[in-house]
Amino acid sequence: MINFQYSRANDVADAVRQIAASPSAKFIAGGTNLVDLMKMDVERPAKLIDVSKLQLDKVEETASGGLRIGALVRNSDLAYHPLVQRRYPMLSSALQAGASQQLRNMASVGGNLMQRTRCAYFYDIATPCNKREPRSGCAAIAGHNRMNAILGTSDACIAVNPSDMCVALAVLEARVNVTGPRGERTIGLADFHRLPGDTPQRDTNVEADELITSVELPPRGFERNYTYLKIRDRLSYAFALVSVAVGLELDGNTVKEARFALGGVAHKPWRNTQAEAQLRGQPPSETTFTQAANLVLRDAKGFGHNAFKIDLARRTIARALSQAARATPQSQSNKKIL
Ligand SMILES: Cc1cc2nc3c(=O)[nH]c(=O)nc-3n(C[C@H](O)[C@H](O)[C@H](O)COP(=O)(O)OP(=O)(O)OC[C@H]3O[C@@H](n4cnc5c(N)ncnc54)[C@H](O)[C@@H]3O)c2cc1C
Ligand code: SF4
Repeated sequence: MINFQYSRANDVADAVRQIAASPSAKFIAGGTNLVDLMKMDVERPAKLIDVSKLQLDKVEETASGGLRIGALVRNSDLAYHPLVQRRYPMLSSALQAGASQQLRNMASVGGNLMQRTRCAYFYDIATPCNKREPRSGCAAIAGHNRMNAILGTSDACIAVNPSDMCVALAVLEARVNVTGPRGERTIGLADFHRLPGDTPQRDTNVEADELITSVELPPRGFERNYTYLKIRDRLSYAFALVSVAVGLELDGNTVKEARFALGGVAHKPWRNTQAEAQLRGQPPSETTFTQAANLVLRDAKGFGHNAFKIDLARRTIARALSQAARATPQSQSNKKIL
């Protein structure tokens, strides 16, 4: 039995005051990740500061024509919110591809951004893991690494970020608002999650005493030509082997704007702006999509069990781009796909 304290924050200022006073405390929202980690002895916070009742549960339009999403909005409420379904359907799709309905009913936006890797060794305290215990080693590199990363890895860690929501947020170029004892700041999604380098214990650039208050989406939502394609071992309730979120804008038969990001392949949602730039001004064809996919995977590295992901990712990118270009966001088994 490991004892810990529990308290509920009354408002954002109170949450920040409480965490500043207890540096080894952690915020808890839906608890769907943190409680599991505590049960498995991976996380041992001295105190839980419950933020689940804070008034951060609204989805509002911003003056610039975008959307502000409170950090406590539940994943299911966000997925089915009319503004999200109409203007940011890729985000709605990505959220619905994650976990199960029951988990999505509990999971919050802030918690989803901060959820930890599902690398099996991270959860098994009998094995070495640099993320759980810095400088202890990485059991995954020579172990069972089928779910692990192929891009942006380091000698210290080959874990992947497991979020579906964050892959769509990367394409939408969301911005995350945080507040802490040193005040408020905004972190672009591209800089939110970190690559493992030699500090894999740090998943994000949020400080331990900072609270996520909201996520802002710019106006561009790619509501016509989009897709979120998730390849996994089961059709539902499974983490991505590879996933791809795509947003395209077409001008006749020319790609005007192209953005895509991958999940399940790296320590953060993976974008390659060079590959996106290569698509602009080109026809939306099998050839151009395959060339872009090849560029993304050029520096990919497999570790044995997960080497299959390199070709899988290449084909998933090409197929997702092709689905988005046809404005058929879901796979259609009766059509020829790449
Ligand atoms: C069986 C299972 C299957 C799953 N499958 C998927 C899947 O397929 N795809 C997917 O994307 N996800 C999946 N998930 C993960 C799920 O989406 C996350 O557990 C959930 O999003 C976490 O949200 P939460 O509010 O419950 O976070 P919590 O568990 O409460 O917290 C998680 C972390 O976030 C921190 N935190 C929470 N809120 C804030 C805040 N406002 N500011 C700063 N830090 C904060 C906490 O301190 C903690 O470190 C799965 C989970 C389970 C258990
Ligand atoms: S890949 Fe990362 S999380 Fe997994 S065992 Fe290695 S250090 Fe730990």
